Amino acid sequence: MSAYTELASYLRQSRVLASCQQLLSWDQETQMPHDAAELRAEQLSMLAGLAHRRDCADELGEMLERAGDEVGSGDEPEVASVREARRDFTRRKRIPAELMEERVRTTSLARQAWIESRAKNDFATFLPHFEHIVDIMRRFADALGFEDHPYDALVAEYEPGETAASLKELITPLQERSASLLGRILDSGGAIDASVLKRRYPTDAQEQFNRFGAEKLGFDFRRGRLDVTAHPFCSGQGPTDVRLTTRYDERNVADSYYSTLHEAGHGIYEQGLPEERYGSPLGDACSFGIHESQSRMWENHVARSRAYWTWLFPHVRERFPKASEGATAEEYYRANNAVAPSLIRVDADEITYDLHIAIRFGLEERLLSRELSAGDVPEAWNAEYQRLLRVTPPTDADGCLQDVHWSAGLFGYFPTYSLGNVYAAQLFAKADEDLGGVHAQFARGEFRPLKEWLRENIHRHGRRYRPRKLVELATGHKPTIEPMMTYLEAKFGDLYSI
Ligand code: ZN
Repeated sequence: MSAYTELASYLRQSRVLASCQQLLSWDQETQMPHDAAELRAEQLSMLAGLAHRRDCADELGEMLERAGDEVGSGDEPEVASVREARRDFTRRKRIPAELMEERVRTTSLARQAWIESRAKNDFATFLPHFEHIVDIMRRFADALGFEDHPYDALVAEYEPGETAASLKELITPLQERSASLLGRILDSGGAIDASVLKRRYPTDAQEQFNRFGAEKLGFDFRRGRLDVTAHPFCSGQGPTDVRLTTRYDERNVADSYYSTLHEAGHGIYEQGLPEERYGSPLGDACSFGIHESQSRMWENHVARSRAYWTWLFPHVRERFPKASEGATAEEYYRANNAVAPSLIRVDADEITYDLHIAIRFGLEERLLSRELSAGDVPEAWNAEYQRLLRVTPPTDADGCLQDVHWSAGLFGYFPTYSLGNVYAAQLFAKADEDLGGVHAQFARGEFRPLKEWLRENIHRHGRRYRPRKLVELATGHKPTIEPMMTYLEAKFGDLYSI
C-alpha cells in the first residue's frame, strides 16, 4: 500500500467517526428527549475525546510525513490533500485533549441553557455558560497561537487564510456601502407591501412545498432528509447522507421556504463533494465562507429573483389556492425582497444582513481581547443595533440570545456569512456569463445548468484550493465586494426606484 493510500484510509475512518458525532448532534436537535441532555453531553464528550486522540496520534503524524515525502510538491490534488491534512493535524496537536473535552461538555449543556434562557428571555440563566465558553475560546486561541489578535487563531478554523485584519478590509467597506444603500432606500419613502406573505399558509402544505422547492433546485432526497428544528441547519455526514432542517409558522411562509432553500443550498454542495475522496481534505467542503456562498446563491440570487417567481407562482397558486388568491407573481417577488432594518439576523433582507454580521464580528473581537465582558454583552449589543440599524431589541431573546452560535463556542464564525454573500455574488455573475443568462433558465424552472457549473467550478475541488484562490480560479478575479454591490444596487435600485 502506498503511503498516500494508507493516509487516506486512516482519514476516512476518522471521518466516519466524526459523522457519528454529527449524527448524535443532529439527533439532539431533532429527536432527543429533553431529559437526555446530560447523557448526550457525556456521549458527545466521549466521542470527541476519541476523535481528538485519533486526530492527534503520533501514528498519524508519521503517516503524514511518509505521504508528504511520497507525493512531493506540485499542483497535484494529492499534494494539496496532504498539505491540508497536515494543517489540521498541526492545529489539533496544539489543543490539549482535556480542553477539547471541556469545550464539548460545556457547549452541549450551554445549548440546552440557551434554549431555555431564550424561551424565558432570561440572559442571567445563560450567562455562567457564556462566560465559561468565552474563557474556553480564549484558551483555544492561546493554544493555537496568533500574531496580532486572538480572533485570528479562531477564524482560521472556519476560513483558512483569513485574519481579523483581512476580514475588516472586506467587511468595513461592505458595512459602509450597505448602510448608505439602506439610507437611500429608507429616504426614498417607497414601501413594499408584504402582506401576502402574512396570510395563512397551512403547515402540511408548506412542508410539501418546501420539499418541492428544494428538490427542484437539485437537492437529492434519496441522499437526504428534511426535519424540523427551532434553528434551521444542514448536517452533512457525507455526500450520501445530508440532513436539512427548517421550521414552520402558518403566518410566516417565507421564513420556512427560504430557510429550506438556504439549507438545501448547503446540502447540494455536500451532495456534490467527490464521494471517492470521502474522508480526505479533497472530499471536504472548502470553507464555511464557500459553503455559505452556495446557500446564499440558491436562496437569494436564484430564489429571490423575478425570473424564479415567474416560474414558481403557478405552483404557489396550485398549492396555496386560498392564501394566494388575487395575488400576482410580481407581488410575491416584491414581498420577498422588502427591505427593513430588523432585530433578527436570519430574517434580514439582503441589504441589512451584513450589518448584523458586522455587529457580531465587533463584539466577538472585543470579548476575546477582554475589552468587553460577557455580562456586558446585552447592553453593548443593543447600543450597536441602535447605531447601525436604528432599532433596539425590546428583549434579549430578540437581541443577543437570538443566535445559537455562541452557545456552541463558534467564535470567528459569523464573518463567514458575509464572505459567503461576497463570494456568492462574484460566482453567480461569472456563472451567468458562462451559461449565457441564467435568469431565462430560471423562468423555465431549469436549475441544472447552474448546479452543474457549481459542481465543476466549486464542489468537485473539495479543499484543494484555499477559499479566495478557489473564487479567483472560478471567476478569473480575486474576490472583491464589487460584484455584490453591483448586484444589490441594480436589484434594489429597480425595486425602490432609486
Ligand atoms: Zn448557511
